[in-house]
Amino acid sequence: MTTPDKSLRKRCSCPDCEQGGRPQPLTNFGINNSSPDGYHWYCKACNNAKQKEWKKANADKVRAGRKSYNERMKKRNRASRKQLELDLGE
Ligand SMILES: [Zn+2]
Repeated sequence: MTTPDKSLRKRCSCPDCEQGGRPQPLTNFGINNSSPDGYHWYCKACNNAKQKEWKKANADKVRAGRKSYNERMKKRNRASRKQLELDLGE
């Protein structure tokens, strides 16, 4: 991985961007390994705004996702506790 050139600038692809499509320093962009240049298409401000919007619009999905995550973790904890008991010879 090469160190990003701080002088490089990139335009945010979001049509609602506060920067209005002006080039911004790459430090305003998050890392995205699936993007060709290694940075997000949207600047951090837009990403945050979009994420907030998405969470608001998909509150039920967020809740469901959190629930299944908790259940998964619970199952995992239970499994590892069993393993621990086995290891202790109980
Ligand atoms: Zn933006």
